[in-house]
Amino acid sequence: MKQSKVLIIGSGFGGLSAAIELRKIGVEDFVILERRSFMGGTWCQNTYPGAQVDVQSPLYSLSSELYDWSEIFAPQAELKAYTEHIIEKHGLRAKTILEANVTRADWDDEQKQWIVRTESKGEFRGQYLINASGPLSTPVIPAFEGRESFQGAQFHTNDWDHGYDYKGKRVAVIGSGASGAQVIPAIAEDVAELHVFQRTPHWVMPRPDYHFNKLERAVLRNKLVHRLLRIIIYWILESRVIAFKYSKALMNAFAKSRALMLLRWQVKDPALRAKLTPDYTIGCKRIILSNRLYPALCRDNVTLHADGEGIRRITPTGIETLDGTHVDLDLIVYATGFNPTEGITSCPVIGRNGAMLAKFWERYPRAYMGTMMPGFPNFFVITGPNTGIGHTSAIFIIESQMRYIMKCIRETQKRGMHAVEVLDQAEDRYTTMIHSEMERTVWKAGGCKSWYQSEDGHVIAMFPGFSFTFRRLTGRFKPDHHAFA
Ligand code: NAP
Repeated sequence: MKQSKVLIIGSGFGGLSAAIELRKIGVEDFVILERRSFMGGTWCQNTYPGAQVDVQSPLYSLSSELYDWSEIFAPQAELKAYTEHIIEKHGLRAKTILEANVTRADWDDEQKQWIVRTESKGEFRGQYLINASGPLSTPVIPAFEGRESFQGAQFHTNDWDHGYDYKGKRVAVIGSGASGAQVIPAIAEDVAELHVFQRTPHWVMPRPDYHFNKLERAVLRNKLVHRLLRIIIYWILESRVIAFKYSKALMNAFAKSRALMLLRWQVKDPALRAKLTPDYTIGCKRIILSNRLYPALCRDNVTLHADGEGIRRITPTGIETLDGTHVDLDLIVYATGFNPTEGITSCPVIGRNGAMLAKFWERYPRAYMGTMMPGFPNFFVITGPNTGIGHTSAIFIIESQMRYIMKCIRETQKRGMHAVEVLDQAEDRYTTMIHSEMERTVWKAGGCKSWYQSEDGHVIAMFPGFSFTFRRLTGRFKPDHHAFA
């Protein structure tokens, strides 16, 4: 059994940011538990061909760790290098235990600490527990009939097998979301046949790619200039919320018309264009930014299976479609997304008086400031319920959550207490406000089904407003919303 003041689960941007912020408030006694054999989270795990961030990199980075980006939307390898730069600079490798897969967390109310069990690294105890396991870290492969019988290769985009050479092979990509849209153009030229199985078309907008030249990179190494660029990007992106939340007309005028123009310009075949045209409001599902997707789908070796040509079953040699066609395949790639509810916390969490987090979230996941739940003292969830943000950098939100968490810890210490917990009524008022604000948003009213929503239709992933509103909310700690013990 190992004892620390703070236990952090996960070493992605959430976990690394928590470690850096803890040090700023004088807490050195923390340990990071990482289930994988390497650190870094999403950008080290998702290595599929074409992986690239779709939020401008100068903004999609920690505010204290500006970086010499080579282009405006950094590719995966550069994001991995950035993540590793942060790990090395802050000496966080020495603070991390790898292959520590957390299987359960229990609150010990007498000792006022969390007991965290891992699969193979024993038990850890800590006064505070920060879960940064990442909402998009549990990949989903749908239970297609016959999946186990397929004799070719098959893997999820999240677990790309680089030992498998897809060149010259007959490949299927199932799913056309953000991951699928990046894999498809990255491999289309190299494979013999590419079969794309699209259940619902996504809206696609042009991607304003830009490589910084030597001079621009030199200028951007000046921190003031870099920060100015961050600010400009931030406010340009922030203005999108007006459309996402308040105006379908603006959404249509600025986004839909550009998306339709791209479709008309890049896809000349009217039948293919019809298959690729969504029937829901743009923004309801995450908008794909790509200049390369449509040209790839127009290639002679690429077939889009949509509408009635979906998957009936997987056979030992390929996929049988709903219209009775059999597609012979060597490789099936599942670009079928993640389970955002299971990802929020990576294991069963048992709070005060045996309260089960899974029970508290039975209807839908909910949390005060997207971070704390009543009944679970000293427990914080990074990128928790309703902290997602479609229009700007998720790291801005993570850093906002950090302000709240650090205030909770500091306030508890200041009072000479051992535990802090959000009150029922405060969480309830916050969650009621979130879902009332959500009513008008495109994620709720846009007429689509997306991973942003729970089974019962609540939008559980997104914050329904400006990111600066979230920052303001998390920045003002309200002691009367909390109980201390
Ligand atoms: P996703 O957006 O949830 O897409 C999953 C795809 O799989 C959808 O096309 C979905 O169809 C399809 N699918 C799921 N179950 C299926 C089934 N049973 N049969 C047929 N099709 C099925 O997942 P993702 O592409 O991995 O992206 C998830 C999120 O990760 C994104 O929204 C984004 O936040 C993040 N991401 C970001 C980047 C980036 O920054 N560049 C890249 C990748 C991912 P339906 O649409 O019909 O459900």
